[in-house]
Amino acid sequence: MSLITIANTVHFVIRLPNKIPFLDVGATYIELKTEIDNAIGRVLDSFTYILGPEVQNFEDEFANYVSAGHCVGVANGLEALRLALRAVGVEQGDEVIVPAHTFIATWLAATQCGARLVPVEPELDGFNINPTLVEAAITERTKAIVVVHLYGQPAQLDQILEIGRRHRIPVVEDAAQAHGALYKGVKIGSHSDAVAWSFYPSKNLGAFGDAGAVTTNRIDVADRVRVESNYGSKVKYEHDVLGTNSRLDPVQAAVLRVKLRVLDEWNARRENIARIYSQKLEMKAIVLPSWATDRSSVWHLYVVQVNERDRIREVLGKAGIETGIHYPVPPHVQLSYRNEYGQLPLLRSAQLSKDVLSLPIGPHLTESMAESVVDVLGNILIDQDPFMVGTQK
Ligand SMILES: *Cc1c(COP(=O)(O)O)cnc(C)c1O
Repeated sequence: MSLITIANTVHFVIRLPNKIPFLDVGATYIELKTEIDNAIGRVLDSFTYILGPEVQNFEDEFANYVSAGHCVGVANGLEALRLALRAVGVEQGDEVIVPAHTFIATWLAATQCGARLVPVEPELDGFNINPTLVEAAITERTKAIVVVHLYGQPAQLDQILEIGRRHRIPVVEDAAQAHGALYKGVKIGSHSDAVAWSFYPSKNLGAFGDAGAVTTNRIDVADRVRVESNYGSKVKYEHDVLGTNSRLDPVQAAVLRVKLRVLDEWNARRENIARIYSQKLEMKAIVLPSWATDRSSVWHLYVVQVNERDRIREVLGKAGIETGIHYPVPPHVQLSYRNEYGQLPLLRSAQLSKDVLSLPIGPHLTESMAESVVDVLGNILIDQDPFMVGTQK
């Protein structure tokens, strides 16, 4: 989608028929334009621009959607994670176990609490944290285990929660990519001590700006996040703890209330695209994401592993197919973390960063677009040696 301005006032949206966008965020607005415009107008007309009923209604509706006792809206996903970690007791000098293969926000949240990171590699046949390695990484200084449901697929929660219980270590979930996902028939959102959400525009449930939330069944965790996110204050101008300003914007809350109503339908559309990819890309030179029987992914991303990833990505790009890489550089070798963690032998994470390729997926990607992706990618792979990449399925 491209935007052209004529005489500074008229905006035309041009859809190039031969381009397949990685994700069309604008289409989420276009589909719901009337309802979203009304919702935003309602906030403006209410004259309440900080917190208020719109935020509270969203918190109630989202808590209800994920079957959690409490939901506290916050400014963004990183803040949700940071405040959740603080609320379960992470302090300066503690150790926090984090996935080695994740978006850097998962790490930054623990770092901002003053904790030392203990990165753990993903499972051999998936992308989520390996429970066996989690147990091996525990020391007497471990204060929290962070689980990420990466790409929309829930992690092995039962095993990790059991390890947490046995060692009396709280578990925090990073659910920024898993809105609506099910683990053994139960929605992600209340399994652990605290669940952190991002509503960044490209997420399955996305605002039109930054937004986040923490859901939990623990009233003490909810209270602490609420107080810390609002200047450490329960009663106006009484500041009992050193808080911050990390509130959910009511305009974004109003947008999220509209989009929450279509979340399940839009997740189903993503699953339909994922099914087309999985059925039609069964071939040797590519590793496809797995379909677990005890969990359902919400297909935030459809990530394959291929040899010569960068070359394949370039050919797809020339054919007009946009793809993504999640993520090209693992956190431990980023310049910001390299000094402290760069020497760790996180081999699988390093390998994944070279092999992963995210195909276009989203609620507005059509079946015929998915078929085009399959055709073009299939043709590229025919020219390749049929050797296995990454790990076996
Ligand atoms: C998006 C994302 C975050 C951070 O969310 P923001 O709202 O951008 O701060 C954290 N963790 C994961 C896994 C994410 O995908």
